[in-house]
Amino acid sequence: MATISDYKSNGKGQPIGPAEIRTEGGTLIYLLPVQSFPGHLNNLFLVDDPDHPFLFDCGTHLSHDQLDACMDFVRAEFGVKTRLQDLSEVIVSHAHIDHFGGAGRFREMGLPLSIHELDARVLEGFRERLIIASRDVAVFLRRAGMEPAAVTDLVDIYQTEKDYFQDLEPDRRLRNGDRIAGRWPILHVPGHCPGMICIAIDDVVLTADHLLSRITPAQRPQSITPFTGLENYLRSLDKLKGWGTFALGLGAHEAPIRQIGQRIFETQTHHANRLRLVLEACRERPRNLTEITLHLFPHVAGFSLLLAQSEVGAHVEYLHELRYLAIENLDVVAADYDAAADYRTIVRSTDPLGLA
Ligand SMILES: [Zn+2]
Ligand SMILES: [Zn+2]
Repeated sequence: MATISDYKSNGKGQPIGPAEIRTEGGTLIYLLPVQSFPGHLNNLFLVDDPDHPFLFDCGTHLSHDQLDACMDFVRAEFGVKTRLQDLSEVIVSHAHIDHFGGAGRFREMGLPLSIHELDARVLEGFRERLIIASRDVAVFLRRAGMEPAAVTDLVDIYQTEKDYFQDLEPDRRLRNGDRIAGRWPILHVPGHCPGMICIAIDDVVLTADHLLSRITPAQRPQSITPFTGLENYLRSLDKLKGWGTFALGLGAHEAPIRQIGQRIFETQTHHANRLRLVLEACRERPRNLTEITLHLFPHVAGFSLLLAQSEVGAHVEYLHELRYLAIENLDVVAADYDAAADYRTIVRSTDPLGLA
């Protein structure tokens, strides 16, 4: 069974230095924790396959020095011979900036870059993606019932820290079932991000942001980004659950996951509870999305408000898709397509999600 050596974490369950993982088949994986933005940590992984060593995730331009320090550490501590320039491939788990922002460095080193085909467009046409996504976020927030000035503020926040990235064309576009090094299969798990992938290395699974040890990965509605949304995410959790039996999960943030089935169950339960809270809020009285968000998260502001709106938006969209919610003020929405819909909980005779 897979083992971990030298794992150290802080009080918040964040790894604070490199650790060595040995899979059941003897493949060595190194957990390399780096800062991607001030106060934001990402786990990069060196999979030291003797025939095809690869790096899973890049961090950002702010991660390079810490990655170099981690590589020095694993060389000194664990005798790792592989250097960054020796890598056969650099794989990006999904197109969120904290995972791919630093990819340009590896391109300059001449290393092949891979990402799922649904996320390749973000790297190739980053400026286009940023503009279109900003527009879709603005439409979403307006229809959520936010004031125009607040929408502008949140869209500005959405765009910060993202303008340094230069477009990159990936060398390889991954699909579900492809294998890395001809051996390690990938699983496409859309939801948190359209092109999200996990990789199985023997009895260890690299779960990226699909499954994390403490937090539940952020959700956004499909109305902002196709292939995201709760329907896709929950189905992808089932997909991971049915993929195989793993001794250890390694997420792109936080601590290793020792009980993957249990953690999937906790994550599903978390979302079921949040769906119930939304239904309760809209049973009391019809509410628009901003009112639901502030009911569930009364004290959020700034970037946290944007995350909360997206999260609640994904839940409301899911409940509306499955007809647990209906729109109360249809005449208002018919007269102005950007007007905020007020959602009301429907009394149903069936409950396919078991939320009653
Ligand atoms: Zn992410
Ligand atoms: Zn992340």
